[in-house]
Amino acid sequence: MDKQYFIDKAEGALLHTYNRYQKVWDHGDGVYLFDTDGDKYLDFVAGIAVFALGYGNEKYNKAIVSQAERLLHTSNYFYSVPMAEAAEKITKASGMDRVFFTNSGAEAVEGALKTARRYYYNKTGKADSEIIAMNHSFHGRTMGALSVTGKEAYRAPFEPLIGGVVFAELNDLESVKAKISDKTCAVILETVQGEGGIYPATKEFLQGVRKLCDEHDILLILDEIQCGMGRTGTLYAFEQYGIKPDVLTTAKALGCGVPVGAFLTTEKAAALVPGDHGSTYGGNPLVTAAVSAVLDIFREDAVLDNVKESGAYLYETLEAIKQEFPAIIKDHRGLGLMQGIELSVPAKEIINGAMERHLLLINAGESIIRFVPPLVVQKVDIDRMAEILRETLKSI
Ligand SMILES: *Cc1c(COP(=O)(O)O)cnc(C)c1O
Repeated sequence: MDKQYFIDKAEGALLHTYNRYQKVWDHGDGVYLFDTDGDKYLDFVAGIAVFALGYGNEKYNKAIVSQAERLLHTSNYFYSVPMAEAAEKITKASGMDRVFFTNSGAEAVEGALKTARRYYYNKTGKADSEIIAMNHSFHGRTMGALSVTGKEAYRAPFEPLIGGVVFAELNDLESVKAKISDKTCAVILETVQGEGGIYPATKEFLQGVRKLCDEHDILLILDEIQCGMGRTGTLYAFEQYGIKPDVLTTAKALGCGVPVGAFLTTEKAAALVPGDHGSTYGGNPLVTAAVSAVLDIFREDAVLDNVKESGAYLYETLEAIKQEFPAIIKDHRGLGLMQGIELSVPAKEIINGAMERHLLLINAGESIIRFVPPLVVQKVDIDRMAEILRETLKSI
């Protein structure tokens, strides 16, 4: 069956909210994806920073297949073995105290926002709290998450969103200070901005925000949905800043392909009580078996060591390419295996050119290309990527 058949079938029925590339994926192997024509593509997108372990990881597949055969779902009125195991493992690994499993990143953000409002309500008895979020941030597409997303074009058609959100500038501590009031219940930010263009928070900024939050009894929510789960070389990026959030959101690579996210809190910020929050599927046996397997494999296969090594190599490689193409590449930044190059041409031009040469890349905004390969990527894969990227840049 030819690929156009499936594209037409999909377009005939799907709500048109994406302009999709004309590819139909069939299967994956390691860092490669294969389409229905049998063509092979080097994947530096990893399902948007999701497929950390690469495609077809045996230990991971075994874990979800055996759980699927045993028990897929029970409600949250009961416990399950994988839920208990995953909850203990993720809290220990992150250094947080409590976890609530969700079905997506956006839902994890919703839970974090409810936690902050509940914390403020418990403290003041008032329902007039404010949240400080960052310009150029991205926190998801549901109404609450959208309300704290710092991109006007995403928000405008859906106003009025939740009230009491004010925006400050990442890496500008004074701009945060200026927005703090008696009503501020939380500051939410990505430790490394993803969709906004791969901007890591600076140490001075994040430590400064932590201090401000402590002084004013405000919760610091770090959204590590994209930069967490090892992508920057530590399990969570905040570990590299010498601070800890009160609330942490995580998703994407948390389940490495099954839909699961979570928000985690310290004991102090665990403000939600029975009846406050829930989810039919959240943390069901299938997804928590996946989370558990992912955390085990990270440890057993020393995935973080590979991120450090391959991340440094990717950094060197992209620095060299930047030197070779100074007219096209304006900037290069990032941490670990979350890096970006800022271009003087539309990112789509490079992405399309690379795709013709069987390399998958993804943009972050109009002019930035994001490199978020599987965390098991090797030097040889980075060399291959660089070869194709150079050819593509030469053709511009
Ligand atoms: C992807 C992303 C989200 C939203 O996650 P979904 O699973 O798509 O809802 C939220 N925050 C950040 C930082 C993200 O990268």
